[in-house]
Amino acid sequence: MFMCPAFLHRNELMEKKKLDVFKKRLEERQRELRHNVTRTEQDGRAADQDTAQDIADRASSSYQKEFLFSQSNSERQTLQMVEGALERIREGTFGECISCGTEINPKRLEAVPWTRHCIACQEKLEQGVLNQDTGT
Ligand SMILES: [Zn+2]
Repeated sequence: MFMCPAFLHRNELMEKKKLDVFKKRLEERQRELRHNVTRTEQDGRAADQDTAQDIADRASSSYQKEFLFSQSNSERQTLQMVEGALERIREGTFGECISCGTEINPKRLEAVPWTRHCIACQEKLEQGVLNQDTGT
């Protein structure tokens, strides 16, 4: 297929603009998650002190701590993925599946900008066929 160079150039500029939008969204999410992770850690420590003061509240407090812990764990994981995506923007590999190199579906990327796998690899991952650490 014949491609006019001017069109190609304009297309590249559009790509850069789109990339900037993703970058801004990711940086915002990064700030938010960093803030949440720190706050949750502080809440966890506060819950610790409450337990020491009132034994009757121990059960609910440890439940709360567990909840906060699992919440901060998943936020920490997302934060790592967001940071990885920002790194891929810098490297120029953003939007490619880290496992097979295929371009990730734009709608998928739009919904979850820090996604690392194309749908095919994500399915393999969920089935346990693909090693999560491949390519990192
Ligand atoms: Zn893939």
